[in-house]
Amino acid sequence: MTVAARTLRVRENVMTTKQEEIREKALKDLQQFQVLMLDGHFDFGNGYHGRLYLNPHRLFRYPSTIWRFAQDLIDVLPASVLDQTEVVAGPATGGALLAHTVAGLLDSRRPITRTPTMFAPFVVDAYRGPGLSRFYRQQIAGKNVLLVDDVRNTGQTLARCATIVRSAGGNVIATAELYDRLEATSDAGAPNFALAEYKAPENYPADRCPLCKAGVAITTF
Ligand SMILES: [Zn+2]
Repeated sequence: MTVAARTLRVRENVMTTKQEEIREKALKDLQQFQVLMLDGHFDFGNGYHGRLYLNPHRLFRYPSTIWRFAQDLIDVLPASVLDQTEVVAGPATGGALLAHTVAGLLDSRRPITRTPTMFAPFVVDAYRGPGLSRFYRQQIAGKNVLLVDDVRNTGQTLARCATIVRSAGGNVIATAELYDRLEATSDAGAPNFALAEYKAPENYPADRCPLCKAGVAITTF
């Protein structure tokens, strides 16, 4: 291995350690803001109980909190993705708010002479899924698009957004989210990056909940 290659390797390793620190801190931060609660006994109101509770709205109600997490998300993305990104797109509501913030923050790290990063919001219909208006479809044609969302559950939303981008002539370079539940079954066909990840433990029907049986009080907050 040449000295130059070794130096590069070392630098990458240093970066990786720093990125790992950012990711570990993000998982704690999500808990501090009560976006993510890992060790409770929650009644989800649908007949199921479980230990993990996730509410992205607790993040988005404070704009400054989105900014902090967006900065951290940018910090864990590879330099090649950050450099290629021309459009940041995300599904309403959380993903679009995050995409808007990431696009703006990317420019704050780039030379002022560079073309500003564009933002594109997907409208999400409960029945038809995500959609992109004609205006934004035209805007993203021929562009490198970074897709972001607040949470990745099945991965289906990001996969459908990716299909829309491609059908409009855009190039999906990566997908990224603040929190990955590690339960994705749909693939968006691009590398995925998560700021924080945690596999949710099993939920139980209320009448067979081991936490109830053990006499653990329902978590209130
Ligand atoms: Zn229970």
